[in-house]
Amino acid sequence: MPERSLIYAANWKMNHGPGEARAVAERFLSLTSPVKGRSLWFFPPAVSINVLAQATRNRPDIRIGVQNVHWESKGAFTGEISVRMAMEAGAHSALAGHSERRQLFGETDDQVAKKAKAALNLGVTPLVCVGETLAEREGGRTESVIMRQLGPVLEALEPPEWSRVVLAYEPVWAIGTGKNATPDDAAQIHELIRIELGRHGITGRVPILYGGSVNAGNVLSLLASPQLDGVLVGGASLDAEGWAELVGLS
Ligand code: PEP
Repeated sequence: MPERSLIYAANWKMNHGPGEARAVAERFLSLTSPVKGRSLWFFPPAVSINVLAQATRNRPDIRIGVQNVHWESKGAFTGEISVRMAMEAGAHSALAGHSERRQLFGETDDQVAKKAKAALNLGVTPLVCVGETLAEREGGRTESVIMRQLGPVLEALEPPEWSRVVLAYEPVWAIGTGKNATPDDAAQIHELIRIELGRHGITGRVPILYGGSVNAGNVLSLLASPQLDGVLVGGASLDAEGWAELVGLS
């Protein structure tokens, strides 16, 4: 049986400008060492990517990513940044379709697919997020919503490209609310996603992370499920001590 690899991804959202990002990174580095089979990904605000990439350059287990990119390479898109720009700053991965982007900024399923494709085209790993709202869950639409979100991504990417994609299942009702999905709920959705990938000829294992109020108290029970390949964490990743403790638990 191949050894299990786990990804612990920190989404800092709109927290930690360059000065704070450096301080948190330095403290985190002093508290952790590389562990076989464990990758640590950080998604800081775009302005802090470079500082974080520099601070962590001697840690091969750490990868820096960007929280959002535009699919075009350049042009009149005020406020946006391209994949190449993020790469130049030090990003090797790009979140696409985080629920806050979808809900607060109107990002559509098609745009998420274009972002994922643009990232892949330049060798940047897309971390594509899907997940249902509370109303959708209560209306029995979890599965159809996730399939709808995945649809354009499945159309945009060729099956071999999926070996360079990571997915995250993040139920919107669990993000920042303190309510996490049960390990069984999460595992069930991960399994559905894998079945859908299989139906589209994607045969290799695509890592699927779980996100939504993960903390040091629940991470072990979530990761006990072999369906989870890691976690995507917001609030509990913001302070160096707490994040170091969480990633050190498994
Ligand atoms: C997230 O931002 O992706 C997230 C899961 O946030 P939190 O861990 O705070 O719920």
